Amino acid sequence: MKHLGIDRALCAENEGKEVVVCGWVRTFRDSANVAFLELSDGTSFRKLQVVVDKSERKPDPECTKLGASVCVKGVLVKAYKGEGNELNARELVLLGKCPGEYPIQKKRTTLDFLRTIPHLRLRTNTFQAVFRVRSVAAQAVHRYFHEHGYYYINAPLITASDCEGAGEMFRVTTQPWNAKYKTEEEYYSEDFFGVKAGLSVSGQLEGEVAATALGKIYTFGPSFRAENSNTTRHLAEFWHIEPEIAFAELPDVIEIAEDLLKYLIRAVMEECPEELKFFDAFVEKGLIEKLTHVASSDFAVCPYTEAIGILEKENANFRFPVHWGSDLQSEHEKYLTEKVFGRPVFVTDYPKEIKSFYMKQNADGKTVAATDLLVPGIGEIIGGSEREADLEKLLGAMRSRGMNEAAYRQYLDLRVFGSVPHGGFGLGFERFVMYVTGMENIRDVTLFPRSVKNIM
Ligand code: ATP
Ligand code: MN
Repeated sequence: MKHLGIDRALCAENEGKEVVVCGWVRTFRDSANVAFLELSDGTSFRKLQVVVDKSERKPDPECTKLGASVCVKGVLVKAYKGEGNELNARELVLLGKCPGEYPIQKKRTTLDFLRTIPHLRLRTNTFQAVFRVRSVAAQAVHRYFHEHGYYYINAPLITASDCEGAGEMFRVTTQPWNAKYKTEEEYYSEDFFGVKAGLSVSGQLEGEVAATALGKIYTFGPSFRAENSNTTRHLAEFWHIEPEIAFAELPDVIEIAEDLLKYLIRAVMEECPEELKFFDAFVEKGLIEKLTHVASSDFAVCPYTEAIGILEKENANFRFPVHWGSDLQSEHEKYLTEKVFGRPVFVTDYPKEIKSFYMKQNADGKTVAATDLLVPGIGEIIGGSEREADLEKLLGAMRSRGMNEAAYRQYLDLRVFGSVPHGGFGLGFERFVMYVTGMENIRDVTLFPRSVKNIM
């Protein structure tokens, strides 16, 4: 069907011309001689007012129902009332009628309700705006890395190694549900891969393989985590942006993470001004000011040990009091970034016991060169580190965790054959979209969110 999107059709240069537009009916008004239909098609917030001269033709009543889809051919003219343009219809064709039970009604419905109809909630302004921002942000991710000399790598999604080692892997199997074996080993030896396999929780290990050959790489794909927690910032399937950089140390990793985040924020501000105005008005007051400020000021950096010193003074007010060695909970992360720093903050040099085996061990023998970027409203948005490049130290960390060295043969080889200092980080794409839109629940920035007991 040859037609223009409404955002394109409404260009001034189309005035006086005949255009064809398709969309869904948002409102209908009728008077003695003319009928008015407002159409939207998701290309932008803009609605097209269609004017039907009833003396020429009576519109099909089905075309006037909220949610019906129509195709209109007409001439774009100056609006009779107010500014802008409207379409004088010459032909109005019903594409699909919409019965009265259409769940997207005009009165504002709640996000909770809309989550029960993920296939229809995209017909609302809010969700259309979220997904336009999400698309623009994804393009900007690729643009940033391409402009900065990174190669785009696709890491495997099915893997035999659990990168984070946190036991959050989904299994991948073709064994029947009632397979009977005496041992686990026997079970897996008969399985598709002959060993236990699962969905990747991170492309990092493969990213390191590529970075130690190509220099600078990134992956941008789904990661899967069987997170058994029902929070507003965890999904079982999320999109993960993971750059990995050879010849880089922790300060380089921090610099790149900050630069990327600011670039992405600026891209969304430039390309989605209408969407941001909408979110500022209806979702997070002050959003644009927040983003403008963040894009142009330095992020804070705070070593974990200092952060604990700050947090301990507030222990009485936390559900989980902290001490040196505790993992930071969401309440601590938010306190640091919202109350103490009032801006994004990189917490660095965490105790090695609470971080992954592959992180570079610091000279103090107690901490690793890791960093989490915490942002107001969300908490952790990025987790990264310099990687341990020393074979013996890496083996030591694996042994103290009781890991199976044989499973990491290839990873260890990177430290045998021309090892280099390198590092990288993971940015959760949905968390970024939450941050720039102000949406508070990660389920509302994902088309079909997957979480515990939810796979609609
Ligand atoms: P958290 O502490 O919030 O559970 P994490 O420390 O497990 O996150 P990392 O392994 O460091 O996360 O992953 C890197 C980034 O990926 C995180 O900073 C976050 O933005 C994102 N991320 C991690 N787990 C999830 C998830 N279950 N759903 C959505 N995004 C996630
Ligand atoms: Mn992390």
